[in-house]
Amino acid sequence: MLRVSLVTTGSELITGRCVDTNACWIAGRIATMGGEVVSIRTVGDDPPAILRAMRQALREARNVVVSGGLGPTRDDLTRECVARLAGVPLVSSPRARRRLFRHYASRGLKMPPGAEVQATVPRAARLLPNRVGSAVGFCCRTARGSIWALPGVPAELKTMFTASVEPGLRRGARARVILYEVVRTVGLPESRVEAELARAPAVVVPGVTLGFLIDRGTILVTLRSEAKARAQARTALVQAVRRVRRRLGRAVFATGGTTLEESIVGRLRRRGWTLAIAESCTGGAISARLVRVPGCSRVLLESIVCYSNASKRRRLGLRPSLFRRYGAVSRECAGAMAEAARRGARSSLGLAVTGLAGPGGGTRTRPVGRVHFAVAGSRGVMVGEHLFAGDREAVRAGAVVAALDMIRRYESQFFCTPP
Ligand code: ATP
Repeated sequence: MLRVSLVTTGSELITGRCVDTNACWIAGRIATMGGEVVSIRTVGDDPPAILRAMRQALREARNVVVSGGLGPTRDDLTRECVARLAGVPLVSSPRARRRLFRHYASRGLKMPPGAEVQATVPRAARLLPNRVGSAVGFCCRTARGSIWALPGVPAELKTMFTASVEPGLRRGARARVILYEVVRTVGLPESRVEAELARAPAVVVPGVTLGFLIDRGTILVTLRSEAKARAQARTALVQAVRRVRRRLGRAVFATGGTTLEESIVGRLRRRGWTLAIAESCTGGAISARLVRVPGCSRVLLESIVCYSNASKRRRLGLRPSLFRRYGAVSRECAGAMAEAARRGARSSLGLAVTGLAGPGGGTRTRPVGRVHFAVAGSRGVMVGEHLFAGDREAVRAGAVVAALDMIRRYESQFFCTPP
């Protein structure tokens, strides 16, 4: 099994000046190779910290990939650290010097003073070709395993990783296959999703492990299947996905990369249904999320942000008596808004949201966080309500997801007869 540890170096990475995209990118490549990244460490340009990180990384994996610190400046310290770990001196490599010279000459430049230091590498290190830049990457064996040193500049790192590190790692690894799948759920909190699956031995498939992630209000169950052969890993994964889906039932809205909004636009499009929205406390955020999906114009006809009662009256024709009797934050108001939105746009469905995002304005009977939802179609009106915890943003974000989920539930309930 290919196991790799990553060390990314650079003070810019630990001071918030640069996002560590190298680690993410390499981890993705190793996963697609069927390997596993066992740890990622990020350290500044500080030799003791770099040495410590590399030592620990070598304890965890026989291959360590290091990014950054191969340039010509004083803060480029990777060469020294690798040489110390390997217990060999740094030597100036004639081949690397020639390469550097050619690199500058091919651009019509003279090699700048001080650039030659880039040609020093730990003795017996294998140089890695670099077609796109000047940094000299190398692979150095130590008693515990190999260190692959790559430059920090992402374009150089990617080219060198693909051209040299990947084939090297493949040769050294005994092949095992790891496949991944994601089951996406909405409407259940993460703890509940976890508990449902943890309590169910029937979900367990040997070789498949489960993980949990939150993605903009939806909970993702990640499945990782590991086996000697691809067919074996695939069969176990398919079986585990089936079991997870069965266990979580209607909370599952998709597998793979499909987002909640993509899933909803897709469902409505397949049925040829259209949608109009009346949003109060979400202020257009539901429509904003839906229109991220290409092809949404076939589904979403219009969206009205009617924040005040006056707007609800003027734009949707809601009666003043409705507000007097039930208040604007009520299931009755949500239902009337959804009907009016649908009628006004002549759409198949109308969706409405009205609630109290806070922080002020709450009462004992109508607390902050209370949001009412309604979906109207020709078969009637479905209403729902939630009490969301957290600040104003959390309430609004929760309301957007619950509203989208409500469309999904309405659609699946009435899927036999178009509204
Ligand atoms: P150079 O010869 O350019 O100095 P180097 O190997 O020394 O190459 P660094 O100096 O560590 O690389 O990084 C050069 C630049 O590459 C950084 O300023 C930063 O913009 C980018 N970079 C470095 N590490 C990362 C990383 N882990 N993720 C994304 N970008 C990075």
